[in-house]
Amino acid sequence: MKELREAILTKGVVLSDGVLKVDAFLNHQIDPILVSLIGKEFANRFKNDRITKVLTIESSGIAPALATALELNTQLVFARKKKSLTLSSNLLTASVHSFTKNESNEITVSKDFVKEGDNILIIDDFLANGEAALGLASLVEQANASIAGIGIVIEKSFQPGRKKLEAAGYRVESLARLSSLENKTVHFL
Ligand code: 5GP
Repeated sequence: MKELREAILTKGVVLSDGVLKVDAFLNHQIDPILVSLIGKEFANRFKNDRITKVLTIESSGIAPALATALELNTQLVFARKKKSLTLSSNLLTASVHSFTKNESNEITVSKDFVKEGDNILIIDDFLANGEAALGLASLVEQANASIAGIGIVIEKSFQPGRKKLEAAGYRVESLARLSSLENKTVHFL
């Protein structure tokens, strides 16, 4: 996606060889026009897959997932990282180790919103080690729903996430694929 590459190059900040900061358009301030284009692109890639629901994880996945759900005319569900007081039973849970925070979270989603018969598109902002996507996939599998694929806004292809997801049998669609962040520079695959 040309517009996404442009935003990464002009507004992204390389924090280290492993971490890209995109607070200017995706993770803190959100560019609605770019996010809307991201939604259109994911929807186009999965338009023939009869998606019944889009699933992401709070908070940075919500904007691109919402744009995608709007285009696909489906509902969006986001997994929570902290248990809500109003969401205490009837839950699916999985453990996810956070790449950026280096801590493990129990992620949860209500059984009311991910169900057998659903065909789910998982969306997330970044793919690094694949932990978040595998955790979301586990929630879907526990519900006996199916996974149409995993849509990633920015894939760091030099980290093992894609390999792990493909080895588990999932289709991965990434809108930007980075081959390296070395020397404070973004290189695309
Ligand atoms: P994974 O679970 O694949 O190891 O990491 C993906 C999750 O960690 C994403 O949900 C994202 O929030 C965060 N993440 C991983 N790498 C980066 C990065 O380079 N920059 C930012 N901003 N977030 C990242």
